[in-house]
Amino acid sequence: MDYRFIDTHCHVHFQAFQEDMDAVVKRALEAGVGMITVGTQSTTSKNGIALAEKYDGVWCTIGLHPNHLHAQDFFDENELPPGIVDDLKEGDGPAHIRTRAERFDWDYYRELAKHPKVVAIGELGLDYYRVPPGVDLEALKKDQQDQAREQLRFATEVDKPVVIHCRDAHTDQAELLREEIDRGGLKRRGVIHCFTGTVAEAAVYHELGFYVSLTGIVTFGKNVMAAAKEIPLEQIMIETDSPYLTPAPHRGKRNEPKYVEHVAQKIAELKGITVDEVARVTTENAKKLFKLS
Ligand SMILES: [Zn+2]
Ligand SMILES: [Zn+2]
Repeated sequence: MDYRFIDTHCHVHFQAFQEDMDAVVKRALEAGVGMITVGTQSTTSKNGIALAEKYDGVWCTIGLHPNHLHAQDFFDENELPPGIVDDLKEGDGPAHIRTRAERFDWDYYRELAKHPKVVAIGELGLDYYRVPPGVDLEALKKDQQDQAREQLRFATEVDKPVVIHCRDAHTDQAELLREEIDRGGLKRRGVIHCFTGTVAEAAVYHELGFYVSLTGIVTFGKNVMAAAKEIPLEQIMIETDSPYLTPAPHRGKRNEPKYVEHVAQKIAELKGITVDEVARVTTENAKKLFKLS
């Protein structure tokens, strides 16, 4: 089946969709939106597979998000942070997020990776923005780098691309990717999801063979708009990161994969090209990177 758009990064298997998960997925598929639902720890990695199994047009990833390396408990009164974790409860007002400490378990993920619907490893990466109270920043950086490096090596072993979550850490992130590529790894490369960096940072990733993926932030964030204009469409994929980061005109509501069309529309508007062109190229990029079939 052909999909007009691929939402390359969503979390439709999270608790925010507990009540109406199937309706949300069907609504997207009927609108011609395929999706990749992204794991963030052992439980959500496993649950993503269960959902992907049920539907053509739904694929999944498995991995350990950097925010799950430490147990933490925090409120976010502002914008929901990009790609944060799964324990958001509906109606929690300001996002109340609880995470527990986890380490990357090779044997566990090796079993999951055998499933044909698993198209990538991640989200994994570096997040220097959210430092839990009592945790030393340097220790946290080192720990995140170690766990990211393990997963990059794992991706090399199972020959899958990676989905990278990176916040306030592009220099270190690019260095880690380069290190693994220089080692002869990451043959299938990957994507920097929820890209909010600069054009220059995107160019570094391009040179490494990485895509960047844009969220609904492109509909309201001035810096991302400016970057989206310049980054070549051939390097761009689109995503919702739902339930987070809802694009205009639905801001303030829960996000869902169908809304990825608003991300595409905005990119088309910024670049002065048609939505069809954005749909065609970004879908082609996703199919190529993730070998979707
Ligand atoms: Zn993320
Ligand atoms: Zn995410």
